[in-house]
Amino acid sequence: MLQEIALKKSTQSVRAGSRRAINMGGLNTPMQPSSAIEYLDDSEVRYPRYFNTLNHEVVAEKMNALENAEAGLVTSSGMAAISAILFGLLESGDHIVLTEGLYGGTHALIVNELERFGISYSFAAPDSVSIEAATRPETRMIFLESPSNPLMSVVDLAVVAGFAKAREIIAVIDNTFATPILQNPLVLGFDLVMHSGTKYLGGHSDLCCGTVNGPSGLIAKVRNHLVNYGGCLNAQDCHLLERSLKTLEIRVERQSSNAATIARRLDQNENIKRVYYPGLESHPGHDIAVRQMSGFGGMLSFELAGHIEPETYLRRLQLVICAISLGGVETTICQPVATSHQKVSEQERQRLRITPRLLRLSVGIEDADDIIADLLQALNNVMT
Ligand code: PLP
Repeated sequence: MLQEIALKKSTQSVRAGSRRAINMGGLNTPMQPSSAIEYLDDSEVRYPRYFNTLNHEVVAEKMNALENAEAGLVTSSGMAAISAILFGLLESGDHIVLTEGLYGGTHALIVNELERFGISYSFAAPDSVSIEAATRPETRMIFLESPSNPLMSVVDLAVVAGFAKAREIIAVIDNTFATPILQNPLVLGFDLVMHSGTKYLGGHSDLCCGTVNGPSGLIAKVRNHLVNYGGCLNAQDCHLLERSLKTLEIRVERQSSNAATIARRLDQNENIKRVYYPGLESHPGHDIAVRQMSGFGGMLSFELAGHIEPETYLRRLQLVICAISLGGVETTICQPVATSHQKVSEQERQRLRITPRLLRLSVGIEDADDIIADLLQALNNVMT
């Protein structure tokens, strides 16, 4: 095949990594559900929990192409990917800097587990100056999300990668919201990129999985630990994930253009106090997003005006589904204080401006006008 690195994202999504069932003439990678695999004539011993069966490798290779990475792993969830990175690469005595406002599950992992292993941590505001200021001589890792969940904060990735490299700090990003279609952090100097594949990579609200990609040396280290922790994905879900990735580019393009249209419309509505979307010029991270992303993504948040009760509003929606998770083909909405950030303390949520009136919208691939009509009719209904 043509050099994969030179191919465009849409071609990579469909073709990179995928194998054909040559013997049968099929176009798709055969599914290899065996947990017992012959080894005498293979260069390595293969086993699902070694993350090296055919269906694991195909997904990892497709993600390598999309993220411009040397190597990668597919895991049983986004949290399995995050915990493997943290516990695989950090040791007792190390310090990690994380950005404020991370996904609530990541936040809970940090505050509930790290200190038990002698790893200290600091949270920094999601901007490069604050992140640099929070580093110490013993800092071994920086972990951030950009755009972040749920306020869509944008961090200058090239700047963070620059000072991380100079201090031999491993720079890690949760690229779930941006997807590899819109942002490639490894190209900007980051060391590792992970995804909750449960979201856009899977894209149809029927998978739970994760990915990690980066240079071979770091990935081998993460894999060595992951083999001990477990957290592998079964063949069928790897197969589904591979199939989903083939349409990633067209889904994300549509979700992103829909979200931009919706953000502008909501921003003009007097019953909406504030819209958080990096594509809006009023967003504090807009200029950085323009530099480092090729689109602004399918996620946005908005704050209802004071006279609108959030749960009443959510119950009046007819097309948009009130559900947790994100990144599916259907538009969903949730209230972060009741879902993704439920585990974050009330005090912390207030400080981060994650109020009960904040709603997070995951824009699907439906017609943008239909989504807007539903979001507005529910506002009008709440008013009467
Ligand atoms: N990162 C982000 C940004 C998320 O939104 C989530 C889940 O919502 C995760 C990580 C965790 O992923 P998973 O639920 O696949 O473990």
